[in-house]
Amino acid sequence: MLEPIQIELPTIFEAMTVNSWLIKGEENVLIDCGEKTDKSWIALNQGLKENGLTIQDISKVVITHAHLDHMGMANKITENSDATIWVSEMVYEWAFNLKELLDRRSAAILASLLPNIPKNQYHKIHDFGYGRLSPYWDEIPKERLQVFPMNGTINFGGQVWEIIHTPGHCLNQTCFFQQEKGWLLSADMVLPMIPIPIIDADRVPPYKGVNSLRTHVASYDKLLALAITKAFPGHFKIIENVQETMERQKQRIHQRKEKCYQLIEAGVSEFMQLMEGIYKERINNATMFMVVGFLDMLEAEGRVKSELINGQLYYSKTAIVTV
Ligand SMILES: [Zn+2]
Repeated sequence: MLEPIQIELPTIFEAMTVNSWLIKGEENVLIDCGEKTDKSWIALNQGLKENGLTIQDISKVVITHAHLDHMGMANKITENSDATIWVSEMVYEWAFNLKELLDRRSAAILASLLPNIPKNQYHKIHDFGYGRLSPYWDEIPKERLQVFPMNGTINFGGQVWEIIHTPGHCLNQTCFFQQEKGWLLSADMVLPMIPIPIIDADRVPPYKGVNSLRTHVASYDKLLALAITKAFPGHFKIIENVQETMERQKQRIHQRKEKCYQLIEAGVSEFMQLMEGIYKERINNATMFMVVGFLDMLEAEGRVKSELINGQLYYSKTAIVTV
């Protein structure tokens, strides 16, 4: 059984690349396919060429989750080949209803962040809406799509892989596990660093923000139960010490969440002050999503409560009742 082959593609994000994993076999399959830019298209074709293939040799493109850098170029591939684009039940709507879903997610992000941030700092929040992302992300014609379930198995070029739903970084994210080899196509679930728990919109009205970090931690537990020997991530290089990486990241999340609690216990009540206390020099959208996640977890544990005053949230500790 041939290992997935890394094809690294450029992205519009600072100093970041994204991986398209090539599985060669009875048929040639790509797992994820990058953003729709000329640079990315050239890099994909070059990567295939180095492996003795052209885009016409690809029969399946499998999407791990509905983020720009993983599926933006899928339609361009359909225009240049006979490939079918495989999407999960939860990614399906993203393929043909992109504007609505991007704007829905963008609204959920703003609804979670804005009550935490003073008005004069709103400019620190990135725009993840349709206007900003659509130049690099095309919809896919329905007749070129094939839907796979959120669990079960899927065949990549003669290899059988188990589908594992791992929400957190993205509500609709799936990883794929090859049991005999212990290989995990880990998408943005297992990366060398803690993946960003990007707030996603719920799938039912009123499309509220979902608790991404809490869900992400639960997904670690799902994967820790598997005998994984190697992870093929959505970004960066192959990871060999997968269990260790996940345990370390879980521990880190726990420590930072406790740090967040200690600050609140000491009387820090505003989100941006918590940001300063936890991340100091690293205040950006990624760390904002982390702190939203810590607060959500602490509220779920019944240790912290929030109060909305003049449109801004203030946090305090609850009186813990020990029985
Ligand atoms: Zn990604």
